[in-house]
Amino acid sequence: MFDKILIANRGEIALRILRACRELGIKTVAVHSEADRDLKHVRLADESVCIGPASSAESYLNTPVLISAAEVTDAVAIHPGYGFLSENADFAERVEESGFVFIGPRPDSIRTMGDKVAAIEAMKTSGVPCVPGSDGPLGNDDAANQSMARSIGYPVIIKAAGGGGGRGMRVVHSEGSLHNSIALTRAEAGAAFGNDTIYMEKFLENPRHIEIQVLADEHGNAIHLGERDCSMQRRHQKVIEEAPAPGITPEQRKGIGERCAEACRTLGYRGAGTFEFLYEDGEFYFIEMNTRVQVEHPVTEMITGVDIVREQIRIAAGEPLAYRQDEIEISGHALECRINAEDPNNFMPSPGTITAFHAPGGPGVRVDSHIYAGYMVPPYYDSMIGKLIAHGNTREIALARMRTALNEVVIEGIKTNIPLHQELFADSAFIAGGTNIHYLEKKLGL
Ligand code: ADP
Repeated sequence: MFDKILIANRGEIALRILRACRELGIKTVAVHSEADRDLKHVRLADESVCIGPASSAESYLNTPVLISAAEVTDAVAIHPGYGFLSENADFAERVEESGFVFIGPRPDSIRTMGDKVAAIEAMKTSGVPCVPGSDGPLGNDDAANQSMARSIGYPVIIKAAGGGGGRGMRVVHSEGSLHNSIALTRAEAGAAFGNDTIYMEKFLENPRHIEIQVLADEHGNAIHLGERDCSMQRRHQKVIEEAPAPGITPEQRKGIGERCAEACRTLGYRGAGTFEFLYEDGEFYFIEMNTRVQVEHPVTEMITGVDIVREQIRIAAGEPLAYRQDEIEISGHALECRINAEDPNNFMPSPGTITAFHAPGGPGVRVDSHIYAGYMVPPYYDSMIGKLIAHGNTREIALARMRTALNEVVIEGIKTNIPLHQELFADSAFIAGGTNIHYLEKKLGL
């Protein structure tokens, strides 16, 4: 096992990784920007290194500085968390070339999955169901594009191969706007992602977002940990996640889960990963794969008892998976609320000093957060300040526990989206389960 790990991230996920390291007896190096000296994990880590000014480009995204920090502290491996450099194949490659272990997939897997056209191609060859679409990049031949859209059937969606974060997509409802939409999306993709490759998919009108968590080691073993439902979204950003997904049968879970695990084996995938699907009328359609730990991993941990971050570290150290598929049992139900420092009415970020904080507790309640009373939420980064997770033997109990936790938590000095969560946990359609990806925006009148 590794002697020392450098945590190349900040906030709640850095703290989550630090906790996993502690349990495994691994020493930790925290790196932080000048604005992040007071982060909780920086105070708890065995060592810490200031890597630059507040701007992410000069700190958390600065590869040479991160590698130097690993060198001066004698770290053996680097955990990238999520966001920042976690899905940057060049970074993973540089880490390995510099003699450190990257806690994640092989750089070529990250590169393939980072290009959505290549990812879809890989999924098709591995038997994972995809959205009906263009089978590769779109050319500039109008007649060919029109006949393709007609055969797929309107509405279609034009997407950037290098897109991410819900950007680089355009829905087309009829042939009249096809040419312009293709030209615009191509131009935007080139400007935003440095890659103007675009492709076409059937636009599914009322899907749910359901994703499969996988773990794979370098010895050819791969398992799935069931699904999560992340349909409650605003601007393609997840707000609430849960596991298992309401209404998904054990047979469906086994069917799609096994295909994902099999794809990992076929592709030689290593590490933790998530296959994201749109789910409509009983069918799963692959949209993309995330090659890192996800914000919503705790709901899966709560229902399976598997520590995903611990497994990431063990896999990176070359150890075989600690579980066989038949040892994975789904127990109860878990929900997660992402707590953001933002105005619940207009979603504007609300940085500032937290003057009072009381964490909720009780059976089945988990808080993954780096905040404390006196902590100043800086304005430079993502507004998520933590996650509330509730688990129970049934979905009903998990819902009740989350309501209790949302009423109990006190965060003063900044605004948070807790009132929005309270409203959603009293919403009859959400309580019934199975709402689609448009539900929240429609409810908010967007
Ligand atoms: P990103 O990498 O930017 O998150 P995704 O491919 O994962 O892009 O898509 C993000 C979101 O866009 C999906 O969760 C869904 O809401 C919407 N979306 C993407 N493709 C389709 C599609 N074919 N039909 C309907 N909605 C889609």
